[in-house]
Amino acid sequence: MTSVFRGESVLRRSDSMPNRSTTELDKDEILRYSRHLTLPEVGMEGQLRLKRAKVLCVGAGGLGSPVAMYLAAAGVGTLGIVDFDIVDITNLQRQILHGTADVGQKKLDSAAETIAAINPNVEIRKFETRLTSANALDILRDFDLVVDGTDNFATRYLVNDACVLTGKPNVYGSIFRFEGQASVFATKDGPCYRCLYPEPPPPGVVPSCAEGGVLGILPGLVGVIQATEAIKLILGAGDSLVGRLLLVDALAMRFRELKLRKNPDCPACGNHPTVTELIDYEQFCGIRGEEKPGTASIVDMTVEELKQRMDAGDDLFVLDVREPNEYQICNLGGHLIPLNDLPKRVSELDASKEIVVHCKMGGRSAKAVDYLKQQGFSNVHNLAGGINAWAERIDPKVPKY
Ligand SMILES: [Zn+2]
Repeated sequence: MTSVFRGESVLRRSDSMPNRSTTELDKDEILRYSRHLTLPEVGMEGQLRLKRAKVLCVGAGGLGSPVAMYLAAAGVGTLGIVDFDIVDITNLQRQILHGTADVGQKKLDSAAETIAAINPNVEIRKFETRLTSANALDILRDFDLVVDGTDNFATRYLVNDACVLTGKPNVYGSIFRFEGQASVFATKDGPCYRCLYPEPPPPGVVPSCAEGGVLGILPGLVGVIQATEAIKLILGAGDSLVGRLLLVDALAMRFRELKLRKNPDCPACGNHPTVTELIDYEQFCGIRGEEKPGTASIVDMTVEELKQRMDAGDDLFVLDVREPNEYQICNLGGHLIPLNDLPKRVSELDASKEIVVHCKMGGRSAKAVDYLKQQGFSNVHNLAGGINAWAERIDPKVPKY
């Protein structure tokens, strides 16, 4: 008996239409993932696991870029992305989800475009918001695991606690300058971020990447490690970083690891947890809103005020507490003493003069003003917003960095 339906149906799916079935791969998918399918450790079963997997990336920045791109390429079926930021030109040195044409666009939209271009089979769920205690459990609910690509302590503790509370693995990574860390936290028997760091560092002690700098390729290196761990967790293959903290030194190109143990007294995952719901993480980390110098007694000076005073010929001593390499990028002709050298070089300053201290954005200069006041300097001001504010609002010829 011959069927009349012998030729190919005109209802055949077009190539661009993704196949959402989680129980089978179509011909295009089999070809696309053929290098996975020929690996016995992945195979059809593993590829279908990847397809069924739902991974949440917190942040579409430096770490989130390689994570989202490689997970998409690998065939992870659903990728959630939480981000509220706009693409800035200073992001492009490392955040490869975004390109020059995306500057000024939402990172979420730019990320979704890049991911769709890599693999149209991926379902992208966009969460245009800051992850907060109010929304984290809701957002996490539908996902199998979380990849933490955040750049601040408040969100890092939030991601950790939300993962512990919901029982979802937290694939952790962090970067600074030339060094990075990665681990897998909050699995059933493994330690969590709080087992390693029960308390956040005092605010201001650890500079941000904006202030301290970061080698552009470093988030690539660490993010790829996170993506690898995420894929292994989905496949159930290999030895994961559970119970190990991997330390990466890109300059020396050395990888070391520390053994981590679950702390029975951990406030989040210990035997008698005290963190039974999400808390106020900005308060916990000692910051409120944007990073600001903590001291209220510091008299700020605006860049407009400084310009006016300079134009009037006032006798001001401008102290620049940045690093020499930053001074080379741009300067206001101030006297350069890097913040860390200030205690041993304080004698270069004249306490009878009115001193205006600046750095790049105002954080380090606030610390310098604090220190100088302790040393008996009474007439010192912190230039609010630093030289970047000057570049933005006073002199466009000064490069922003
Ligand atoms: Zn713990």
